[in-house]
Amino acid sequence: MSCLSVIIPCYNEEESIPLFYAEFSRQRDFLKARDITPELLFIDDGSSDGTVEAVRRLHEADGSVHLISFSRNFGKEAAMYAGLQNATGDYVVIMDADLQDPPALLPEMFAALDEGYDSAATRRVNRKGEPPIRSFFARRFYRLMRKISQVEMMDGARDYRLMTRQMVDAILSMGEYNRFTKGIFGWVGFRTKWIDFENVDRAAGKTKWSFWGLVRYSFEGITAFSTVPLVLASVLGVVFCLLALLMVIFIIVRKILFGDPVAGWPSLVCIILFLSGIQFFFTGILGQYLAKTYMEVKSRPIYLKNEKNCF
Ligand code: UDP
Ligand code: MG
Repeated sequence: MSCLSVIIPCYNEEESIPLFYAEFSRQRDFLKARDITPELLFIDDGSSDGTVEAVRRLHEADGSVHLISFSRNFGKEAAMYAGLQNATGDYVVIMDADLQDPPALLPEMFAALDEGYDSAATRRVNRKGEPPIRSFFARRFYRLMRKISQVEMMDGARDYRLMTRQMVDAILSMGEYNRFTKGIFGWVGFRTKWIDFENVDRAAGKTKWSFWGLVRYSFEGITAFSTVPLVLASVLGVVFCLLALLMVIFIIVRKILFGDPVAGWPSLVCIILFLSGIQFFFTGILGQYLAKTYMEVKSRPIYLKNEKNCF
């Protein structure tokens, strides 16, 4: 007999939780046939609605339902980390509460583990129902990440993933504060099978992501898994030095041939503005990495529990 821990990050999901539980329960026969007992770990990420009560009702009827409640909203990354830390199963799967990660894919995911894979990951093949501008930037982001970071990151990849214990332990060994799980999954390696599925709409409630929230999250991903932006400053510096050298030669030659008429003021101002702009830009990038390092050095806890709501 083995155990499957299901991690469900929840932020204001009181409506989705009963729907999720009902949908997940349809997989119980499959799990039973494989002699797997499920353990449902709901993570309440500082919800302000009835999320805790909704999980408590489930817990009263089903002892395998547990809740870890945070003292405030720490974000989905922190919720997933807390889930992984507290999961006891031989297998662990992360699922959204809103049923956008269909539990019906579980048999296919377990089949992948049978084939010898250490993890079965899912990705959406379309982004139906998503604002086109969001899809556009998401695609650009994944393309950029593939270029500037060493880790494998799939376009449309979700956090919905079934993992073996050894992979979970590997992820837990990465205790960084600025977490970008999509990158961490790729970084730890292990053989991963990708399972495609059609995007489904939220069962209830609404998305917690704003456009700017996603932009911030993408910067998180870039700074966490690539130092290419830092190198860019040096490359541009060298390019500008070479350019300056060519200009010097040009001016000297012109002076010898034609004398020195005073001109070129507006162009000078443009050049100064352009170069100082670039310098500020790279100082900003440097600042981003410094800020991340600063937060990392503080080594604050990734989440804090509200013990009286944990069961
Ligand atoms: N979530 C969370 N903390 C947050 C934001 C979201 O735990 O600060 C959870 C949320 O309850 C859901 C999952 O993360 O179960 C995915 O969130 P959402 O559905 O809003 O994102 P989307 O599917 O639109 O990308
Ligand atoms: Mg969702």
